[in-house]
Amino acid sequence: MRNVVLLGPPGAGKGTIAVRVAEALGLLHLSTGEVLRDEVARGTELGKLAQAFMGRGELVPDDVVLAMVRDRVRDQPGVLLDGFPRTLAQAEGLAGFLRVDAVVDLVVTKDEVVRRLGNRRVCSACGAVYNLVTQRPRVEGKCDRCGGALVQRPDDAPEVVARRYEVYERDSRPLVDYYARQGLLRSVDGARPPDRVAADVVALLRS
Ligand SMILES: [Zn+2]
Repeated sequence: MRNVVLLGPPGAGKGTIAVRVAEALGLLHLSTGEVLRDEVARGTELGKLAQAFMGRGELVPDDVVLAMVRDRVRDQPGVLLDGFPRTLAQAEGLAGFLRVDAVVDLVVTKDEVVRRLGNRRVCSACGAVYNLVTQRPRVEGKCDRCGGALVQRPDDAPEVVARRYEVYERDSRPLVDYYARQGLLRSVDGARPPDRVAADVVALLRS
């Protein structure tokens, strides 16, 4: 497998899994969020263009994101795309310059995502992230590192998480169908610890 697309709803643990899979298979991990931040930080032409949209609170247009991805995948032996494509239009644009060999869809239910993100707490002082189930602080409500108060981000409130999940489902369905029609889609149960999920994805892509 050379070029892989990783799909999954917010809270599916996509970032963590992408890093592990890319490392195991020797692929370049491309997170569009990171690519965007990097282009903006370096003040490239594309970065300046993207920043103008973000500054107005608008989504960065597909052609700008596509141009950034195109620059990065050039001359790479294999890439793992994380957070991209997000829409059918982006997938069609991507097909113009990259052959996608496999698409892995991390399947996690809405209830599971609400439960996971609902247990997340962040330190209001240093930003360290905790989970009341899987990564508990030593002292309840206090950061291990700096003693700051742990709070729930507004984004992690159950009704907000449920809404984000529904938006993701709606927007990604045409994309999932598009890759399924091409026979590229592989679904993986994402409702398990990230290590297990990553190991499954690696095995699947090697087979
Ligand atoms: Zn802290």
